Amino acid sequence: MSKQGTISVETENIFPIIKKFLYSEQEIFLRELVSNATDACTKLKTLAEKGEVQGEIGELKIEISIDKEAKTLTVKDTGIGMSEEEVDKYINRIAFSGAKEFVEKFKNDSPAGIIGHFGLGFYSAFMVADNVEIITKSYTDAPAVKWICDGSTSFTLEETAERTERGTDIILHLNETGAEYLSEDKITGLLKKFCKFMPVPIWFNGQQVNAVEPIWTKKPADLSAEEYNTFYRELYPMTFQDPLFHIHLNVDYPFTLTGVLYFPKIDGRLELQKNKISLYSNRVFVTDSVEGIVPDFLMLLHGVLDSPDIPLNVSRSYLQGDPNVKKISNHITKKVADRLEEMFKNSRPELEEKWEDIKLFVAYGMLTDEKFAERAAKFLLFQSAGGEFKSWAEWQEALKPIQTDKNNKLVVLYTSDKDKEHSYIQRAKEKGYEVLILNTPLDAHLLQHLEGKFPEVKFARVDSDSIDKLIDKGEEQFSKLSEEETNTIKSVFEKVTDSQKFVLQCEVLSETDSPVIVTQNEFMRRMTEMNAVGGGGMSMFGNLPESYNLVLNTNHPLMGKILTESDENAREKVAKQAIDLALLGKNLLKGEELTGFIKRSLEMIG
Ligand code: ADP
Repeated sequence: MSKQGTISVETENIFPIIKKFLYSEQEIFLRELVSNATDACTKLKTLAEKGEVQGEIGELKIEISIDKEAKTLTVKDTGIGMSEEEVDKYINRIAFSGAKEFVEKFKNDSPAGIIGHFGLGFYSAFMVADNVEIITKSYTDAPAVKWICDGSTSFTLEETAERTERGTDIILHLNETGAEYLSEDKITGLLKKFCKFMPVPIWFNGQQVNAVEPIWTKKPADLSAEEYNTFYRELYPMTFQDPLFHIHLNVDYPFTLTGVLYFPKIDGRLELQKNKISLYSNRVFVTDSVEGIVPDFLMLLHGVLDSPDIPLNVSRSYLQGDPNVKKISNHITKKVADRLEEMFKNSRPELEEKWEDIKLFVAYGMLTDEKFAERAAKFLLFQSAGGEFKSWAEWQEALKPIQTDKNNKLVVLYTSDKDKEHSYIQRAKEKGYEVLILNTPLDAHLLQHLEGKFPEVKFARVDSDSIDKLIDKGEEQFSKLSEEETNTIKSVFEKVTDSQKFVLQCEVLSETDSPVIVTQNEFMRRMTEMNAVGGGGMSMFGNLPESYNLVLNTNHPLMGKILTESDENAREKVAKQAIDLALLGKNLLKGEELTGFIKRSLEMIG
């Protein structure tokens, strides 16, 4: 019995529409066909389990093959198959009403979305093929049938002797645009991308494509740390470092979500690490750009998420507003915070050891996610220049008695570079103060955030002022110089200072402090840094040139020496030497200035 007919869709022909709108993501046709084949196999397995299949079910598998000469690509499965009625019902009668309006409405969506959303999976084959054949035999005793369609709305459907075993062959006669799918490498690549974790064995070119088990479907208790790491390497063959740790997600109420997220070593390179999470829906690859699905900072994590509850077939803007997506993303945030808090409570040494790699992530999270910020305030660690770790709360507790200034503000001293700011850290240490290390690109934002949350706390980098001014305890220093003498000192230094680069100021400091100190205004520097990483609405400052102050400590014995020196040249030489030493201490003496300094120093010791 042979049948001819037209495919019933309300518009005359959906194929031009499919081709036009789906062109850019045409490769998903393979995912759709293999998914259908997988479904066909799983359906058969379920029926067999219920005892509804006669005899042995044999091996359930899918085989993809290409024939370069005939220009065909075939997807063969040993699944449930279709009877003639079923082909008529499932293939010919496309549930597709108002194709045109629909395409209008969704034209900004991803083509992959349109296809899956409207059950057009099979028809995506026409993006790459002019002619498609289905040769299928149902698991029942219905005869095998062959369906052929040339991409117009007419088809033929007839009984065939070409298949005697249960299952389905989908044969694509590839057109010009589809010719690239005759390449083995291309097909291997696509199968690895889309089908790597599908549940039925998929074979291509004598190799099983999906030999790796998706470990997220297993129970955490059944998996060893090594298995998690092996799976990580499977996902990211180009990443040579093991992840720091992982989180296994497993929720089935009120939504379904499984997955494994890994904390990679970040090494301060935010952008490089992003977009490494792949999203699956029942083990079928959907996307590896999860923007809008997980919060921005979580995109630094690597791994896989699998959820049939994320509406994958709609646009990103829709996704962002979807309540399920919101719930899932909140859940992930919570799990990540749980894990870090658990480490903080139960394996603090491990957290400290890994903190160097985690801190940027935590800072990013705190700055972009209010809920996470609340949680993280508990496990946020800082390391001191001396190497000691304490949590943010513990530091506040420890520093309060020693670093509270006359206005009752707790001044938290920090350094962004232990080596560059060494002499300043040293001076703080001599005072009995602690200096914390804040050296990630996000730290300027982070401490701004913390100052907002803790108004009684003020952060100051060790080189932003002289130490007595940084933590002003209101102890007035007695000036050894008269006002006139101070003015004389200032004018001597002015002569040897580049006023374009430095602002001179005289201060009465302890005589044990340095004679000249280079400082950099905390506020200005911080704004520049915040600006550099973006955000914070500080763009009005533009890119500020770096500006420094030269603080002259008028109580230092050197100032007395300058005053008693009558030779003007000698005075200025000493002043210049003192300035250069201060600049040297901050790694700011360069080029001609450095050469001049060395020459002058040699003269002085000679
Ligand atoms: P969807 O898979 O979204 O339902 P498709 O257009 O991809 O839409 O497929 C339509 C129907 O055709 C499927 O639901 C299934 O019943 C049937 N079908 C497609 N491919 C196969 C196959 N390889 N084996 C058995 N049935 C199939």
